[in-house]
Amino acid sequence: MQVLESMERYGHEQLVVCHDSAAELKGFIAIHDTTLGPACGGVRVWPHATEDGALLDVLRLSRAMTYKSAVAGLPLGGGKGLIVADPRKDKSEALLRAFGRYVDTLGGRYVTTEDVGMTPEDLEHVAKETRHVAGLPTSMGGSGDTSILTGLGLYLGMKACAKAAWGSDSLEGRVVAIQGFGNVGSRVAEHLLAEGAELVATDTFEGSRDRARSQGARVVDPDAIYDVECGIFAPCALGGVLNSDTIPRLRCGVVAGGANNQLLHEGDGEALHRRGILYGPDYVLNAGGIINVSCEIGGEYSAVRARELTERIHENVERVIAVSRQEDVPTSVAADRLAERRLKEAREARRVSR
Ligand code: NAD
Repeated sequence: MQVLESMERYGHEQLVVCHDSAAELKGFIAIHDTTLGPACGGVRVWPHATEDGALLDVLRLSRAMTYKSAVAGLPLGGGKGLIVADPRKDKSEALLRAFGRYVDTLGGRYVTTEDVGMTPEDLEHVAKETRHVAGLPTSMGGSGDTSILTGLGLYLGMKACAKAAWGSDSLEGRVVAIQGFGNVGSRVAEHLLAEGAELVATDTFEGSRDRARSQGARVVDPDAIYDVECGIFAPCALGGVLNSDTIPRLRCGVVAGGANNQLLHEGDGEALHRRGILYGPDYVLNAGGIINVSCEIGGEYSAVRARELTERIHENVERVIAVSRQEDVPTSVAADRLAERRLKEAREARRVSR
């Protein structure tokens, strides 16, 4: 991979390579853009098979964080950490603290938080080495479990998509197919069931399938979820699930889920658009987590403020859909345009104020 070429193409500011042989740490911190504020984003623990795969992941994820915070109206830039390790076998206090020391060297340019492969307890180890950590447990003065507001924001985003697709934001009686019944999937399911939606769910983990069944969902095999006839398909597991193999199979009017980087390639947003499927851009709908975390940075955490900002996701999705219709572009492109406009305005305001 041509790292500098890629950074130039996508506008990244900085890449930190983290290596500590005693702690067996190998990883990266990518800072995409700090125009709007300190770069913030979770640290992912994932056993990437290749260095290129790991680099691509951290660069892509950090850029998505810039766009996510920009559309959500937060005073944060985009960054991401990646520890190349197996979260089930390789995590240790020494590893996490070594990563924390790297975060600390950046002096607040990057604020880390939880992501796939990390737990709140892991974050506490990171916080022993740096104060630039957010999303700590409430018992430590932090904002606690981010999936609560991610689930709420996703539900409100689904309602905004429903309104645009079917003229009413009611989800009563709508079939919603949830891929991945983990933290986010099960949280959004609670809201959907309370409104009277019908759930179909899947997960690769038997325990999560049982949880879905006990919450009242009809459970299908993991690969069968793409073929379910439904109103909304909600990817809430991993990224890259919307691609040239799966998009032709979808039998839904709306795709609205919580997973990050759902489109495998940029052109997959266009493919959904051509099929007449309304795509609620992932980073607009799943911003509840970063919103929650943002309310902990630089002051005392306010749950009321975090909820208020999360409720604006409904309006943010409506804005994206309006731009998509006015400018005749897929919603994925419209969301990027909104984010880029906010960044441009902020850069211009900075130049004026100097
Ligand atoms: P999680 O690990 O709790 O849940 C993910 C679930 O998906 C697991 O139960 C897993 O078994 C299942 N899964 C994995 N591969 C699957 C597959 N191929 N088919 C079906 N199920 C599969 O994670 P989470 O916190 O719920 O996050 C889910 C997604 O949402 C991730 O992409 C994450 O990056 C994104 N996200 C989470 C938050 C948050 O606040 N937790 C915020 C923003 C985005």
